[in-house]
Amino acid sequence: MSSGHNQQLEITEIRNVKIPDFLNLNIAGNMSVKIRDGVIVSVEPVKSDTRIKDIASEPGVVDGSGMVLIPGMVNMHAHTAMTLLRGTAEDCDALDWFNKYIWIYEQGLTPDDVYIGTLLGGAEMLLNGVTAVADHYFAMDRAWRAYDELGMRADLSWALFGLGDSVEANLQAALEFNSGYRGKSPRIDISMGPHSPYLCPDDFLRRIVKISEDENLKMHIHAAEDARQVEISMRERGKTPIEILRDTGVLRPRQAGDEAVSTILAHAFYASDSDFKIMAESSCITAHCPKTYLRFGDSHDFLPRALSSGAGVALGTDGPASNSTMNIAEAARLAALMGKSASGNAETARLSEVLPMMFAGGKALGLPNYGAVVPGAPADLVLLDLNTPEMFPGTNLFADILYGLDGRNIHSVMVAGRLLVEDGKLLSVDYKALRDEAQAIAGRLVSTEADAPMQEY
Ligand SMILES: [Zn+2]
Repeated sequence: MSSGHNQQLEITEIRNVKIPDFLNLNIAGNMSVKIRDGVIVSVEPVKSDTRIKDIASEPGVVDGSGMVLIPGMVNMHAHTAMTLLRGTAEDCDALDWFNKYIWIYEQGLTPDDVYIGTLLGGAEMLLNGVTAVADHYFAMDRAWRAYDELGMRADLSWALFGLGDSVEANLQAALEFNSGYRGKSPRIDISMGPHSPYLCPDDFLRRIVKISEDENLKMHIHAAEDARQVEISMRERGKTPIEILRDTGVLRPRQAGDEAVSTILAHAFYASDSDFKIMAESSCITAHCPKTYLRFGDSHDFLPRALSSGAGVALGTDGPASNSTMNIAEAARLAALMGKSASGNAETARLSEVLPMMFAGGKALGLPNYGAVVPGAPADLVLLDLNTPEMFPGTNLFADILYGLDGRNIHSVMVAGRLLVEDGKLLSVDYKALRDEAQAIAGRLVSTEADAPMQEY
């Protein structure tokens, strides 16, 4: 499936390009960005006008004239191989989504399917300017191979259920994956992936916390994604799901001066005010996935409350079976719209608050200086070509990006200085062969004979 990413062009400079600052909402024009060994080494104004003809003759130099350079977007929570189940569970709530569809279809999923589904989802992310993902799923050895071939950055968690017959075998498989693959690629990291407090009893969570401490691995877990979960947790345990994560050690207190993220917390959408306080004081980052909540009929003021609590928030797509797309610019747009509309306050979820969330996940992945095009940051970069009608007249680049950016505006994408998308075309995989394989797998998964879900939600 791979065309061999090792032959891909190594970019050494991007010249004549505009660079927006998403925190201060200003733009530096006509800049030159130099790259060595996958890292940005200088960002300076172009000294004299350099003609395109000259640039074309310099290998590794990209002409950014008329384009905008931004960091690669980071998807902080995904189940990438669920591209294969896209469109299989629609117009239903979360309960039916799991029990009537997804946990029935997933029983037929093979490791080879995970490889193909991950390639497909990874291709979609790259074509949308997403260069890194925290992926939480099964058969992560196969997902590893897919991301390696795509040339993307990834943080992989093997999903662990703490209930059922296969708890020990699955945990064993995850641990074997961790020891076999950790450190094998500088671009691919590994985390422990306990599913959630509702599918992992406290003693199981404590076991995973112990392993993650001993092995110095992050954790990636779901919690408080719908109101029902919080209600059941309060009724049966007298605690919120976030309090359970604090009490079992999944959420660790943040140490002064230490910015490292120890836990990726997917959703926390129904966090209470006291939960937000716990989150703000812990070394976690929350992955906000607005499209999934909207699809399940949920909308409320999570984002304004999270922003004012000081808790770290990044954006995720969740799996395409609940979200359809793997587009972080779209997640940013929906986060801003839901934040404003659910709070009834147009002055919240501002451009300078929401746009940086597209890159906030870089911190969890340990990427230095991530989120701005500055020296020392990895050369995970996206060139935007804003030459489409909805981007004109271009009076406010920041509003145009948040409210209008589309995959059609993604011109080039590189990870660690290596060109993976050029002129809107994916260089690292054969997209057509992938499409045919994915269709065949999807047909097989939905024609399953299983009539009961593998878990009960
Ligand atoms: Zn999820």
